[in-house]
Amino acid sequence: MMEIVKINDRISYIKATEKPLSADVGIVCGDEFVWIFDVGADELVPMELKRIEKPKNAVISHFHPDHTANLDKMDFSEIFLGANTFKYAKKGKTVEKDIFIDDGIKIHIFLLPSSHAKGSIGLEAGEYAFLGDAAYATMKQGKVCYNASVLKEEITVLKSLSAKYFLLSHDEKFIYPKDEVIKNLEEIYSKRDPKESYIFIG
Ligand SMILES: [Zn+2]
Repeated sequence: MMEIVKINDRISYIKATEKPLSADVGIVCGDEFVWIFDVGADELVPMELKRIEKPKNAVISHFHPDHTANLDKMDFSEIFLGANTFKYAKKGKTVEKDIFIDDGIKIHIFLLPSSHAKGSIGLEAGEYAFLGDAAYATMKQGKVCYNASVLKEEITVLKSLSAKYFLLSHDEKFIYPKDEVIKNLEEIYSKRDPKESYIFIG
């Protein structure tokens, strides 16, 4: 059984699992479509989502298999993904600029510069923004780090969002105030060495 958490009348999510490694799956109920943010890798996810009868659109945060592996196991009216994710998924619609759709709830698909994965996108739904893993770091030479210029761009995009809460995949707490996430990223950015491209943390 997958654990489903209700955030409000329109938004819920299937919790991430570690075995198998499978990301949180966002479920946003619009008037016309149900918007699925990331499809996870756990084979129970498609079974759960198939119980929803409305047509579904998928928004895929980035190319990592724990977010994408179930893509071929379900039917979607439309799949939105970044250019880099498209290279792996080989299907869907590449998001090249922000997309705004009023589906009873305000849907905003946006490009999200990320050190974690090139070509990440996010989904804003009303007061909540699904970020996938985009706020996380990457590894360079076996060390955890952020790309300084990408992090700066990412902070700018995150600040421009109107959502009050950011939803962070794989995190047990999952729902964070926007300001807290931005403050943490700004703190990391403040530790950069202007001569270095990367900010090594931890
Ligand atoms: Zn990832």
